[in-house]
Amino acid sequence: MSETLKITNPINGKARQAESAGEPDRAPETRHDWTSEEVLDLLSQPLLDLVDQARAVHRRYHSDGAMQLASLLSIKTGACPEDCKYCAQSAHYAKTTGLKRETLLDVDDVLENAKRAKDAGASRFCMGAAWREVKDGQAFDSVLAMVKGVRALGMEACVTLGMLTQAQADRLGEAGLTAYNHNLDTSPEFYGEIVTTRTYQDRLETLARVRKAGIQVCCGGIIGMGETVPDRARLLQTLANLNPHPESVPINALVAVAGTPLADRPPVDALELVRMVAAARIMMPLSRVRLSAGRRELSKEAQILCFLAGANSIFYGDKLLTAANNDAADDLALIAEAGLSVEPPCPKP
Ligand code: SF4
Repeated sequence: MSETLKITNPINGKARQAESAGEPDRAPETRHDWTSEEVLDLLSQPLLDLVDQARAVHRRYHSDGAMQLASLLSIKTGACPEDCKYCAQSAHYAKTTGLKRETLLDVDDVLENAKRAKDAGASRFCMGAAWREVKDGQAFDSVLAMVKGVRALGMEACVTLGMLTQAQADRLGEAGLTAYNHNLDTSPEFYGEIVTTRTYQDRLETLARVRKAGIQVCCGGIIGMGETVPDRARLLQTLANLNPHPESVPINALVAVAGTPLADRPPVDALELVRMVAAARIMMPLSRVRLSAGRRELSKEAQILCFLAGANSIFYGDKLLTAANNDAADDLALIAEAGLSVEPPCPKP
């Protein structure tokens, strides 16, 4: 006979009840041995069957119906030496995108932005710097001060800074960083079509350093870049076979930016995004699945379908790095209309 256990979700620390005869700190559905065929079968089944399964997993592990609001600020914009074909910030496309390079923001400016985000309801503050890798010195010291300041506000702090050494990851961990964002973007096989200035293995190595430093991993991908459905399955397989799973999984639809090599890609069908969200929810039951770039192009109904399929985090605020984002008041109204709640700020460290 199965026993009712009190299980703590390691991500939001909230207790939940679950029927399980297994370990109390592990979701029974948690697996790290997905095959690409299994994931492809999951993604390709009738949409409502897929959503039904995802909904069941979501209700079991996220029964509080809380939506995390994460605000994202570009702390150093443009002139990135990497050549990610979707990115407005790459120096490789600066002539055609016309994006102006900006230097690293002041710590006080960033913390002022974080405070405004918190006052507007965000519980997580994400900071992105358009760097290939972190270089030790004044700029990195400033980022460490930003992390400490955001944590002192009682918010989760996440940064994305490019590749890290182990010593740099350890310093971020010591500063109290909650999570490090480093997306895999797509499948290992398709990756070379999107980025040529680093390898998939480089990404995986930085993720391993982040994990070793005791920092949560935020890692996801983008659809709509010309990849196949098997490529999407391989991305999800790679994410779910990381052990432990990334605590946060951003699912992005390409925002085709004028002047980038992917400017002419057709828009992503919203139901393809729903499928990705649902499969991510099933494969990584405890993770936060974040509906990220491309949400602005979704109708209210498509967003609700993503929430139904297991998305429980959104980027919130007027900007997503250099792209426009949904209106904050509309987001709060949508969350209320869906009967969800907003996740409260975390306790101060
Ligand atoms: S590393 Fe980041 S900022 Fe740089 S080009 Fe790629 S996505 Fe853009």
